[in-house]
Amino acid sequence: MGWQIMTKVAGMPELPIGAYVPASSRQAPEHDRAIPDQVRRQIQQRDEYRCRNCGWSYEQWNQSDPRHLEAHHIAPHAKGGQNTTENLITLCNICQDEIHRK
Ligand SMILES: [Zn+2]
Repeated sequence: MGWQIMTKVAGMPELPIGAYVPASSRQAPEHDRAIPDQVRRQIQQRDEYRCRNCGWSYEQWNQSDPRHLEAHHIAPHAKGGQNTTENLITLCNICQDEIHRK
């Protein structure tokens, strides 16, 4: 316990080697939590660990722009969208928030 950062070998196996994010930014929104880790990993690998909207990746992470990547449902989960790789894309939390506001 008490991790300051998450790395590939410490809690976030989906991160590319050398990437890290603060543990505190890992909190997933409520609706995301049902996605199996395996599916989440598959879509992040498919999307090359980048936001599909703006292209952000963990390589660009810094303290003044502390983003993280999330799995976004193309068909909303609430409307029957499935937790499958076909229905999920990788977005950074900024783009995800923007889409959810619309
Ligand atoms: Zn983005």
